[in-house]
Amino acid sequence: MQMLHLNGVNTIGPFTDNGQNYIVHAAVTLKATACPRCKHGLLYEFGDRAIRVIDLPIHGKQVLINLDRKRYRCRKCKHTFMPAHPEIDSEFRLTTRAVKWIEKESMRQTFAYISNQIGIDEITVRRVFWRYAQNREKTLSPTAGRIIGIDELYLLSEFRCIVANLEDHTVIDLLKDRDRRRVQRYLKDLDGVKDVERVCIDMWRPYRDAVKEVMPGVPITVDKFHVLKWANHTMEQIRKDTQRKLERGKKLDLMRSRHILLRRKPNLDKQELAKIKRWRRTYPALIDAWELKEQFFNIYDQPSSEAAREAFKQWRVDLPLTVHHQFKELVNMVNNWEEEIFNYFDERVTNAFTECANGLAKITNRTGRGHSFAVIRFKVLFAHRLEAFKRRSIRSRMAVMGVPFSTFDDPLDFEP
Ligand SMILES: [Zn+2]
Repeated sequence: MQMLHLNGVNTIGPFTDNGQNYIVHAAVTLKATACPRCKHGLLYEFGDRAIRVIDLPIHGKQVLINLDRKRYRCRKCKHTFMPAHPEIDSEFRLTTRAVKWIEKESMRQTFAYISNQIGIDEITVRRVFWRYAQNREKTLSPTAGRIIGIDELYLLSEFRCIVANLEDHTVIDLLKDRDRRRVQRYLKDLDGVKDVERVCIDMWRPYRDAVKEVMPGVPITVDKFHVLKWANHTMEQIRKDTQRKLERGKKLDLMRSRHILLRRKPNLDKQELAKIKRWRRTYPALIDAWELKEQFFNIYDQPSSEAAREAFKQWRVDLPLTVHHQFKELVNMVNNWEEEIFNYFDERVTNAFTECANGLAKITNRTGRGHSFAVIRFKVLFAHRLEAFKRRSIRSRMAVMGVPFSTFDDPLDFEP
């Protein structure tokens, strides 16, 4: 076995292997030079203390260092102390490199996994993470940026609020809930809020109220995907209704129809288009609804706000009576959020990024069972790979459905 390779630490004995751990005896060689309390330089040694320090694992085995540390006493103020050591953590019985490893791993692994790997209890892992997160948060100085995204996030059985800088694609913060008061207070104190030129939100009235209060006059855009999600939702309702009403022998008729009907038309292959054609003869109202859904999506292809408003007006007028009542909610929604929905066409911003960050938080939640909201918040705030995550997934997820898949997993929250 090799040396420990810790500066200022001398390995005294050999590594012993007891099957589960390596144990090694070592001593600190670094000498104290000044009293930490009064900075006086005249010190004398005041006995030894043996402590057990845990290092990084070797060969998958825990490494325990029985470390002799010297104690000193200050001649001037009589303070007794064990000098700080750069290789040994000052708070935890861990080497500094073990702490660094825990900090790094805790961003992507569960605390239980880390605890298992390094051979310390989970509570200590949690405390190491916590200290790290709090120190690191002090170094973050989130600013609003030119475009802010505010979105909801269903996490640990509650709706939370995610605030993002949509221009540089960073999560600004995760708020515990999405109450108007909390959001408003947060926005008010946010650095750079005076420079915000646009805000993208989902259709949640408290967001609109909060933004209007804190940033009067700043245009609000409703996120395109939240609107389209409702078109898909309507389609789904109609499909379920149709399927429910089918006679016994015909149940198989609409097999796999969900996937086809939610897809955008240009993404359907020949066979799927043939199915649509066949369904049109048997279930005309269903295919009417599908076409209306497609036309609704097409509104977003319009070149300007005026053209889009016009397209919507036409779409509403053309709604066939057969599906009129089912599309009523969607129509009401557009009416109630008209200004914000059509603001999209002035500057095409979406919350697609927050949607991805959203997905990340959910993964974090799933992989780290027992994580508190605060822990997830830190993990999301510090996740450097968010940018890469966004590029990889967003296009693939939206290409097919026109709406990020994850929006289908959310409980629908809707304020007409
Ligand atoms: Zn002193």
